[in-house]
Amino acid sequence: MVVSDVAPGRLYLARTPVDGLARAHGGKDEFLAAVCHELRCPLAAIQNASRLLSSDVEPAARLKAQVLMERQIRRMTQLLGDLQDLSRISHGGLPLRRERLDLRSAVGNAIETLDSDIKARDHQLTAVLPDAPLWVYADPLRLEQVFVNLLSNASKYTDAGGELTVRAHRQDDLAVVRIRDSGIGIAPEALPFIFDLFRQADAGNPRSRSGLGIGLALVRDIVSLHGGRVTAASEGIGRGSEFAVQLPGEY
Ligand code: ADP
Repeated sequence: MVVSDVAPGRLYLARTPVDGLARAHGGKDEFLAAVCHELRCPLAAIQNASRLLSSDVEPAARLKAQVLMERQIRRMTQLLGDLQDLSRISHGGLPLRRERLDLRSAVGNAIETLDSDIKARDHQLTAVLPDAPLWVYADPLRLEQVFVNLLSNASKYTDAGGELTVRAHRQDDLAVVRIRDSGIGIAPEALPFIFDLFRQADAGNPRSRSGLGIGLALVRDIVSLHGGRVTAASEGIGRGSEFAVQLPGEY
């Protein structure tokens, strides 16, 4: 098994957020084109669904259109939020509101947030959480964001009917969450760079998915701001992936 181990964060230095993000992406034009593409896709889906809603359709089709609109609006909101967070991090300022927190609740909330996506893709989700609280000193919303990003990737890069597993446990004085999927996997040569900003491992993979390549960079930065680390492992293309988040425990 190949593991990519990411040292706690070197954050992005930039003159302005857009300049820095654009440079990391290989040019302002490419960056703007990718952002436009990522916003245009959900917008088109919302437009279609809203046309359908204003016509005379069956209640079942209406409900389906509403669920689709909500999912696509969430996708756009998440993308804009991710971009804003990255620009904040590049200015050294992502404030954390830390508190003593049971990690099981952050994991549970993330699962709840993605429930409709997981059901829509017909994934089997298994959550194995301990009976006792897993205490950490962390920002609840930021940790939820980490698990939402990892779990939504697990779902996005796994074909319909695949399996997703979330395990949380204590390991010595660490609290650990593992998110595993039975999806497309990651090539060994891509693993060392998987957390880099704008890095997408799909280049040679015929089952590539869309995206901007910022989710994992944010995950790494947020985890490292909490004094933790995140690792990625995969047996290779077609053999699933596992992401593990380790945080200092509060015992
Ligand atoms: P995005 O998903 O928007 O491309 P991310 O930063 O979240 O951006 O992920 C970067 C890349 O890592 C993805 O493009 C994909 O190639 C790869 N990746 C992330 N999670 C998984 C996963 N669970 N299985 C396979 N590949 C993944």
